[in-house]
Amino acid sequence: MATVLLTKYVALFEKLHRNKTKAKGAAPHKPILLLAILHEIEAGRISSNLVPLTPELVATFKALWNTLVPVDSGWNPRITYPFRYLQQDGLWELIKNDNAVTIQTALEPTLNQLVSLCDGGRFPSELWGLLSDSFARSALNTHLLSFYFSGNETGIIEDQINDYLMAQADKLKAQAQAKFRAKKIVETTEEYFVRNRLFPKVIKELYSYSCCVCDISASIENSSVIDAAHILPFYEFHNDDPRNGLALCKNHHWGFDIGAWSLTDEYTIVVAPKLKNDLVFIEHGKPIAMPKDESCIPIPTALQWHRENILKAG
Ligand SMILES: [Zn+2]
Repeated sequence: MATVLLTKYVALFEKLHRNKTKAKGAAPHKPILLLAILHEIEAGRISSNLVPLTPELVATFKALWNTLVPVDSGWNPRITYPFRYLQQDGLWELIKNDNAVTIQTALEPTLNQLVSLCDGGRFPSELWGLLSDSFARSALNTHLLSFYFSGNETGIIEDQINDYLMAQADKLKAQAQAKFRAKKIVETTEEYFVRNRLFPKVIKELYSYSCCVCDISASIENSSVIDAAHILPFYEFHNDDPRNGLALCKNHHWGFDIGAWSLTDEYTIVVAPKLKNDLVFIEHGKPIAMPKDESCIPIPTALQWHRENILKAG
């Protein structure tokens, strides 16, 4: 049965609808996306049949593109094309709130738009079954490479993926050297998309994966009790400067967002007078733990805004 299925999908993988132009030939995007997904499953970063657009997938797509597509191909390495159009091949559906959706925008959506329009792509369950099997995965990988890329090897791309993600995380930290902006700006570049989604990773690392209020630290598999909280709320300010972040446990994150507590410019805790705090949920006047990197400490401008707008007075 598995062999019949594998033969079926090997044949379907050969029939990907691809844009063609005289000058550039057939577009490499869809086979590269499939290879990237195979790689991410292999690396353990994709483990369920809803594949979201993540910084890791973007980085893997880029690394494979750089390895397999000639520099002068003339194609633009945009992951949004195949992510959206793999639907045409019946190989997956885009999913939003557990329902299949069709994206109807005249213009090609940016990464940020695509992520807001769908939660990810989902394979037919029989294909997901194959992708979850290491033998079938390896066969599909080899076949994609031989059919679309004349059997070229992808080499070891894990270093390239890490280098790209680390470079973007460093760029995010480097923002902390620039003037802090409290005005919303909307950027649409791929790098911005990646950096924005690396904010949690950067903040948690800066605070050593511990809550800066209570020092708690716990995680299981990919899930952690620690959140990266924005001081100026992201939905309003779109500010991913590390100086706008705090690593907080779920409890203290809740309290911070609801205005049960805030911080002074000297980084000590201010508790809202109304807070019922009998079991000492949070201690007034206690200093918080600081991030490893001094340039990334929370900026007073943001703390002042939080005290004035979020902390519950009276
Ligand atoms: Zn805490």
